[in-house]
Amino acid sequence: MIRREVDAAGICILTFDRPGSPANIFDKATLLELNSHLTALTDDSQVKGLVLASAKKSIFIAGADIKSFSDEPDPERLRDLIELGQSVFNRIAALSIPTVAAIHGACVGGGYEITLACDYRIASPDKVTKIGLPETQLGILPAWGGCTRLPHLIGLPKTLDVILGGKTLAAIPALKCGMVDELAPAEYLVSLAAQRILTRGAGLRHRRQPLAFKLMNSSLAAAFIARRARTALLQKTRGHYPAVEKALDVVVRGLSRSLPDALALEREAILELSRGEASRNLVRIFLLQERAKKLTLPAGADGAKSDSPVKRLAVIGAGVMGAGIAQWASARELSVVLRDINTEQVAKGMATIAKLYEEGMKRHAFTAVEARAGLDRISPAPAEVSLRNIDIVIEAAVEKMALKKDIFCRLDELAGPQTILATNTSALSVSEIAAATRHPGRVVGIHFFNPVHRMQLVEVVLGKQTLPDVARRAVKFVQQLGKLPVVVKDSPGFLVNRILMPYLIEAGHLFECGARIEDIDEAMLDFGMPMGPLRLIDEVGLDVANHVAADLASKFSDRLQQPAVLGRMIEAGLLGRKSGAGFYLHQRRKGEPEVNPDVDRFHNDSRHAKLDRAALAQRMTLLMINEAARCLEEGVVGEPAAVDFGMVMGTGFAPFRGGPLRHADSRGVARVVAEMELLAAGGEPRFAPCVLLKTMAETNRKFYDN
Ligand code: NAD
Repeated sequence: MIRREVDAAGICILTFDRPGSPANIFDKATLLELNSHLTALTDDSQVKGLVLASAKKSIFIAGADIKSFSDEPDPERLRDLIELGQSVFNRIAALSIPTVAAIHGACVGGGYEITLACDYRIASPDKVTKIGLPETQLGILPAWGGCTRLPHLIGLPKTLDVILGGKTLAAIPALKCGMVDELAPAEYLVSLAAQRILTRGAGLRHRRQPLAFKLMNSSLAAAFIARRARTALLQKTRGHYPAVEKALDVVVRGLSRSLPDALALEREAILELSRGEASRNLVRIFLLQERAKKLTLPAGADGAKSDSPVKRLAVIGAGVMGAGIAQWASARELSVVLRDINTEQVAKGMATIAKLYEEGMKRHAFTAVEARAGLDRISPAPAEVSLRNIDIVIEAAVEKMALKKDIFCRLDELAGPQTILATNTSALSVSEIAAATRHPGRVVGIHFFNPVHRMQLVEVVLGKQTLPDVARRAVKFVQQLGKLPVVVKDSPGFLVNRILMPYLIEAGHLFECGARIEDIDEAMLDFGMPMGPLRLIDEVGLDVANHVAADLASKFSDRLQQPAVLGRMIEAGLLGRKSGAGFYLHQRRKGEPEVNPDVDRFHNDSRHAKLDRAALAQRMTLLMINEAARCLEEGVVGEPAAVDFGMVMGTGFAPFRGGPLRHADSRGVARVVAEMELLAAGGEPRFAPCVLLKTMAETNRKFYDN
């Protein structure tokens, strides 16, 4: 796993290079091997310094083997692993020679903690270099010295920002905040590290801590900073993320402890957290993301069998979604034809793309040169062009069936025989669109979510006739773009919107029947959703939400009814954020919008005015669980994990609950069914549990075995 060389000047270079894998990780075997290298180099009196490096293209060290934390972690083995990591990193910190980490690629979690045990860190400014401690996002905390050593390097406030936020930074921001000491091109990292050791020697070791850090890390200041941080974080997490609270506690208490005591705090905290449900659910979601990155569909009997990456893309429609997709793909080095009906629309699309690149530059996602090159890869097409050499066409024009059929009929003529024709439709039938072509087998849904640059999930929608090879290439294409595919059957609303809509419709219905906006939204924020449902309707636009609601209600009329209130508010010009007002007022440029005081007049009656927040959340979550189970029942996806993954990644469904079906398991399916039946019996038949749920309750089954 690790190569040891000593150069002519006496610098020992340990190069991590896990065989047969693109990544380096820390498992027990790697830590033991590292330990024996440390013994060997301490025994060698010729060695003047140590450099840690990686031979991988895009990963320095990706951290601990996360499988150690999944499902039923063995507490003893976990304790051994944590102790081993701490003691090996302590040995590095205690070496009498200078130590430098030469970081290129992902350097996260344990991968960054080992560099904290070094005296000095040099990173490449490359895009693949990412530095941080994301542990709290997995419901655990940095326990190989991260909580203890980072505050001494960058001070308490920045440490809390990184650890509590579970942040991973690009090289430049990491340099600015002090997490690394210097940047150098990847090819010079190791030689520069060696040079620093030779020229600065012990000077690397005994760097003076800025006085400001000492002051901030002092117990009085720390107590003040911690109190403020706790208030802010409780507002954000509402107590659902114990790892964040624990990490705050461990970092602050560790400041006044000896190294062994501080490390013991880290150790006990991580062991406790790893037993909790939140951590297990967060780790599961992480592993599902990893699985989606590697998903491969079987090759079909016919078809091109071409697995070569997509080079040329065409996007039809340069609106919100089309521009977003074109920008994202061009940034990943695809050349893109961007087509819209006239010059004005194409220009609008190009302006949106330029703005996305500008924002990306501010986030250090691109340099100015990269942004320019990305823009140059897009060819605006205000008139029809040949699409013969295009690998994939994505249609993202207006959501109207007749229009999409016309477009696909034309695409069939314009595109080459191997071109995949994809639609980004959110609700229309992919099979029906495909039927407008002479080759329906090459039509597939590739449904991105809005905003494209932020949402990782993409639904790959298989129409009735989509060829297996086309489906396989579509999945590969989504992965090529760095997105996470979930494969779904062509059916109304596909997976994510289908489960989300009954929830949003119920929120509208509850409001119509007298419940307060604050109570409805707060109830779901308390549950763990990233945004309340009425606020989400405002963001999506009341007109868009109403349109999707009407569409799904027409298909599932047994249980979905479009709430009339949306139509009435739209008539009054209240469209949400885009019109400046909806359920909320969106005039302020910064901060949270205020509840719109003028919308009380849209209550229809006061049937539900007295429901408390728990009862409101219960109704909205039960409907999501019911629809999620129906998706499984009808084979929209093949397994509960796909439903849960889709909902967490596509809607931000409380990740620590693991998704609606995992949540049903932890509440107890029988209990969930009983609650649904009670509401249904009270005259609200939309709550009637689906057959799958009822059978599961009767036979005492769960969605997951563990
Ligand atoms: P939009 O209204 O912002 O953009 C649509 C664009 O299509 C416009 O620029 C329009 O001029 C262009 N257009 C119309 N007819 C065309 C034609 N014949 N040829 C080429 N271009 C044509 O719409 P949007 O929000 O970007 O949505 C596009 C598609 O993506 C829809 O099918 C929608 O359901 C889907 N979608 C939207 C979202 C979302 O949140 N906005 C999310 C996922 C999917």
